[in-house]
Amino acid sequence: MGRIKKIVLERELDERLRWLISIRWFAATGVFFVILGTRYLLKIHLELLPLFAGTLALLIYNTVFYYINRRLILRRGQDSWFPMATRSANLQISIDLFLLAYFIHFAGGLENPFIFYFIFHMVIASMLLSNTAAYFQASLAVLLLTGIGVLECTGVLMHHHLEGFIPHTSCLVNPTYNIGVLIIASSTLYITVFLTTTIVNRLRKGERSILLATERLAQQDRTKSEYVKKVSHDIQSSLSTIQTCLQVVLDGTTGNIPDKSREMIARAEKRSELLIKFVKDLLNLSSIRARSKMDMQVISLKNTLERLVDQNLILAREKNQSISMHINQHHWVRVNTFAIEELVMNLIANAIRYTPPGGRITVQTESNNDSEVLVSVADTGIGIPEKELPNIFQDFYRAKNARTTEKSGTGLGLSIAKQIVESHHGRIWAESRLGQGSTFYFTLPKAQTN
Ligand code: ADP
Repeated sequence: MGRIKKIVLERELDERLRWLISIRWFAATGVFFVILGTRYLLKIHLELLPLFAGTLALLIYNTVFYYINRRLILRRGQDSWFPMATRSANLQISIDLFLLAYFIHFAGGLENPFIFYFIFHMVIASMLLSNTAAYFQASLAVLLLTGIGVLECTGVLMHHHLEGFIPHTSCLVNPTYNIGVLIIASSTLYITVFLTTTIVNRLRKGERSILLATERLAQQDRTKSEYVKKVSHDIQSSLSTIQTCLQVVLDGTTGNIPDKSREMIARAEKRSELLIKFVKDLLNLSSIRARSKMDMQVISLKNTLERLVDQNLILAREKNQSISMHINQHHWVRVNTFAIEELVMNLIANAIRYTPPGGRITVQTESNNDSEVLVSVADTGIGIPEKELPNIFQDFYRAKNARTTEKSGTGLGLSIAKQIVESHHGRIWAESRLGQGSTFYFTLPKAQTN
C-alpha cells in the first residue's frame, strides 16, 4: 500500500503543480485586464503603479517556479522529490496569498469584494497540500485579511479608497462592518477548506483502491506471462531438436530415403520451422510482458535505424523493392536497444512482406515536440482494410487480405511492437489505405541529455 499511495500522491502533486503554474499565467492576464477595465471602463479610482508592479511580480515568480518545476521533474521517482515538491507547492500558495493581500490593500482593503478570491486559493491548497497545510494556508489568509483591516483602520497602513465604487466613509468609520466582513470571510475560508479536503480525501481513497487493483492485475498478468514464457521456451527447444533431426534425415546423412517419405519429411520440417517462428514470437511477447524493468541505454536513433535498414537491404532487393531513409538529425533516446531493434525489425519486415515487388519503403524520423521523437515506417503495399485497422495490434490478429497474401504469419509481431513502445512510454498507431500502402508510427520520449 505504501508504494501505491506514494505513486498516487506523486502523480497527483506533479500534475497539479503544473496546472497551478499554468493557471497563474491566465490569472496574471486576467488581473491586468481587470485593472484596466476597472480604471478606464468603470472609472473607479485605482493606484495603477503598485497594481501593475504586483502583476509583474506575479509573472516573475511564476517564471521562477516554472523553471524550478522543470528541474524538479528530472528528480521524479527519487525519494527527495516528494518533500521538495510539497515545499514548493506550500511556498507558491503562501506567496499567492501575500500577493492577493497586496492587491487587496492597494485596491480598497476590506471594502474590495475581491477578498472572496481567497476562496480559490483555499480550494487549490486543499487539493494540492495535506489537510494540515491547507488549514495553515487558511489561517495565513485570515491573518493577512485581519492585518489589512487592523493596519488600515489604525492608520499604520494607508487606506486606498475605491473612489467611485462605494461612499468614502463606509468602512473606515465603521468597525462593526470591518469585523463583520472579517468574521464572514474567515469562516468562509475555513469552511471551504473543510468541504474541499473532505471531498478530495474521498476521491483520493477511491483512486488509491483503483490503482491498487490495477497494480494487482498487472502483477497477475506478469505471472501469467512468466508461465507462458517458460512453456514456450520448453516447446521451442523441443521443436528445434525435432527440426534438426528432420534436417539430418533430409540431408541423407542417415541413408537414402524414398521420394514419398522425403516429401512428407520436408513438409514436416517446413511446418516445424513455422511453429518455431510462432513459439519464438510468443516467447518474445511473454518475456517483454513478464519484465517489469528493462536495462536502458541512451542511443542515437539515426545510427540504429541506419543499421537496421542496411540489414534489410538484401531482403528488399530480392523483392525488387526500394528502401530509403529520411533522417537528417540525431535524436537521442533512452531505450532498451534490443527491444527497439526488435520493434523496428518487425515493422520493416512487415513492410517488406506486405508490399508487392517494385514497391517503396521509407523510414523517417522527426521531432514531434520538445519531448518526443516520431518514427514512421511507410510502404506502398497491400494496405489494411479500414474496418480491421483498429484490431491489428491485438494478439494473433491478422487482416483478411494479409492472410491471403502471406500464408505464414503469427499475428504477434505488432503485439510485440506495441508492448515494446508502451514499455518505453511511447505510442504506436497505423494509417493505411487499402491497396495503396500503410504507414506505422511510433513515438519515443527524448533522452535528457543535459
Ligand atoms: P503477422 O505479420 O505475422 O501477421 P503482425 O502482428 O506483424 O503479424 O501484423 C498483424 C497484421 O497487421 C498483419 O497480419 C496484417 O494484416 C497487418 N499488417 C501489419 N503490417 C502491415 C503492412 N505493412 N501492410 C499491410 N498490413 C500490415
